[in-house]
Amino acid sequence: MIIIPEREIAGLVSPADCLIAVERMFASMANKSAYNFPVVREAIGHAEALYGFKSGFDREKLLLGLKSGGFWPNNVQHGLSNHQSTIFLFDADSGRCRAVVGGNLLTALRTAAASAISIKYLARPKSNVIGVIGAGHQSTFQLRAALDQRPFEKIVAWNIDPSMLVRLEEVAKERDLPFESVDLDRLGQEADVIITITSSFKPILKASQVRPGTHIACMGTDTKGKQEVEPEILARAIIFADEITQSATIGEAQHAVEQGLITSAEITEIGAVIRGDHIGRTDAEEITLFDGTGVGLQDLAVASAAVEMAISKGVAVEVDF
Ligand code: NAD
Repeated sequence: MIIIPEREIAGLVSPADCLIAVERMFASMANKSAYNFPVVREAIGHAEALYGFKSGFDREKLLLGLKSGGFWPNNVQHGLSNHQSTIFLFDADSGRCRAVVGGNLLTALRTAAASAISIKYLARPKSNVIGVIGAGHQSTFQLRAALDQRPFEKIVAWNIDPSMLVRLEEVAKERDLPFESVDLDRLGQEADVIITITSSFKPILKASQVRPGTHIACMGTDTKGKQEVEPEILARAIIFADEITQSATIGEAQHAVEQGLITSAEITEIGAVIRGDHIGRTDAEEITLFDGTGVGLQDLAVASAAVEMAISKGVAVEVDF
């Protein structure tokens, strides 16, 4: 069995590697050769933690496994990240554990890859301004991956606590781009692409704040009850998701579905667009919305890329297990 500690991940896979791995996996999901198992997520009644499993199987690549972990809100006081996860890969022929891989950085990279893929396929080719709502741990990964998809000329951002926006301003400096902290009206007026990446339980972005032609990647809502945008936006938009069941039950679409504004039949898997089975955006006036809920197969795809790279670089730690 191979062990890849968290500290090795950054040296093994790049954001571009993760984008390729996740894009292939979304296509396999749309092809029905890969599927996710139901998500388990429980408040364990200790350390205020939310703990769970995301798992799946890719029949083509024989990728079988799970990501186990969750959210420990008090970790930050002990110098640890609040989100903790580990990915386990199993041999699909024998069931033996093939690899244990640190999942923290990979989670950020695979989540950023998902919204970047949605921008690649759904945003207008001429998208000049990117808007980010949220400035937590995931936000810089989201922004960096998005900036690789279009020649954006400006970054605008909003966060409930504006002092946190400094981390996005740093990314803007890195890329030599102008950055502005704005209110939500300005953000909607200026941005061609909007990423939402917060842990909000109430809508932040209003339908009246979104212009025709905008592409929105809703990335923060991954649990029942969370919400980042008004459901009316989903009623107006063409909706895409990583996985339709998750989108309609734990993703941003859950609220529009509950309120009867849309049905899950109106949600298209992004993999269908990647495969060319769905046209995606049809004109420059459409609002496209990607509901990225985070699927186990994304984790398996990037963990497998890390394992392959560790083996080829000769840095994989093998243990007899
Ligand atoms: P974080 O705790 O580092 O940051 C949270 C962000 O949400 C901050 O910008 C904070 O200011 C903002 N926020 C908190 N409460 C808010 C409220 N009531 N209204 C508006 N903004 C609020 O978290 P993170 O690691 O950056 O993750 C952000 C979100 O993304 C979380 O909800 C997390 O569960 C989710 N997530 C989703 C995926 C996926 O695959 N879709 C993957 C990882 C994380």
